[in-house]
Amino acid sequence: MNVLVINCGSSSLKYQLINSDTETVLAKGLCERIGIDGRLVYQKAGLDKETTEAPMPTHKEAIQLVLDALVNEKTGAIKSLAEVDAVGHRIVHGGEKFASSAVITDDMLKAVEECNDLAPLHNPANIIGINACKSLMPNVPMVGVFDTAFHQTMPKKAFLYGLPYEYYENYKVRRYGFHGTSHSFVSKRLAEFLGMDINNSKIIVAHLGNGASISAVKDGKCVDTSMGLTPLEGLVMGTRSGDIDPAIMEYVAKKENLDIAGVMNVLNKKSGVQGLSGKSSDFRDLEAGMNEGDDRCAAAIEVFCYRVAKYIGSYVAALNGVDAIAFTAGIGENAGIVREKVMGYLEYLGISLDKEANKSHGEEIVISTPDSKVKVAVIPTNEELAICRETVALVK
Ligand code: ADP
Repeated sequence: MNVLVINCGSSSLKYQLINSDTETVLAKGLCERIGIDGRLVYQKAGLDKETTEAPMPTHKEAIQLVLDALVNEKTGAIKSLAEVDAVGHRIVHGGEKFASSAVITDDMLKAVEECNDLAPLHNPANIIGINACKSLMPNVPMVGVFDTAFHQTMPKKAFLYGLPYEYYENYKVRRYGFHGTSHSFVSKRLAEFLGMDINNSKIIVAHLGNGASISAVKDGKCVDTSMGLTPLEGLVMGTRSGDIDPAIMEYVAKKENLDIAGVMNVLNKKSGVQGLSGKSSDFRDLEAGMNEGDDRCAAAIEVFCYRVAKYIGSYVAALNGVDAIAFTAGIGENAGIVREKVMGYLEYLGISLDKEANKSHGEEIVISTPDSKVKVAVIPTNEELAICRETVALVK
């Protein structure tokens, strides 16, 4: 089966066409600057990337251009659109309505729309992408895969905030968690890779990318995760603050003469390791800065690693132990220095680092020593493949 995986943002769209039998990517790329001017990046497997400037007033034109590229006589990955058997859409927020992926129907879309309030920047864009695909490929089955779904197994004690209960009842204020597709994929793969029985396992997944979150997974089910109502809570991230004293918001608003939107903008876009270092949100730059003696870059890395280690410690408590830990996403897969520092805090668990293995980049590898009490591994995430698998499971 060929599955087109679509990840729609407000002005961009990423896509991959995947053959689900061989789990190979036939073509991939993205559309950028939708609604502004428009640029299509397309790459057939084995060929160079092509970039084309083309008007994309809406997502519909963008998706049409992707479909045209996929069937292009010279560089297309397929001969006709009849070879697209299903479409899998990433949807950011499924609220409490979706604990798993779902086939897209009118009723299902209505339920997704009801979650728009919870992710006003993301869900509307996801829905626009779905509608655009529906109008261009009306007979192709489509599936929505939610970032929040995997975390719906969290118990109440983990998802309730210490706020008036009516806010949960009336406004659905609670922890939802994000990156669920990745946490699900990586926890399963970790168990497989280490030969563990997932149904009898305690796993912690550290998804450390520009956005970063941690989850505690018991017997294959999420019991806690660091992101909350929105993806702002938890770890210190590229540009997001993660956990702070909520009273800082009022204090800074007064000092800087900001309204709520202004403070939120600071917490989302000007904080994290970017705000701490004043230099970059990218760990390659921070590491280079640190090596050149830049104290703020060094502090940003320390703050980031310390927060990750504290979360892991708290999830060991949540799980009452831990069998294995996975590092994933851009930083988790590549930044050996981050893994080394985090693991340094966890020696009390009997964890010891294999320094040689920790030098590797972006490959599946065990980075704890054979005598380490807890196994630690790098497991590259693959959200597109996870969406493809979910889609196949529902349309087959
Ligand atoms: P997202 O999907 O949230 O945008 P990614 O998972 O792609 O993020 O992670 C991107 C981040 O990964 C970069 O900002 C950078 O900090 C980090 N990263 C990527 N490659 C490397 C590398 N070789 N060494 C250190 N950090 C890296």
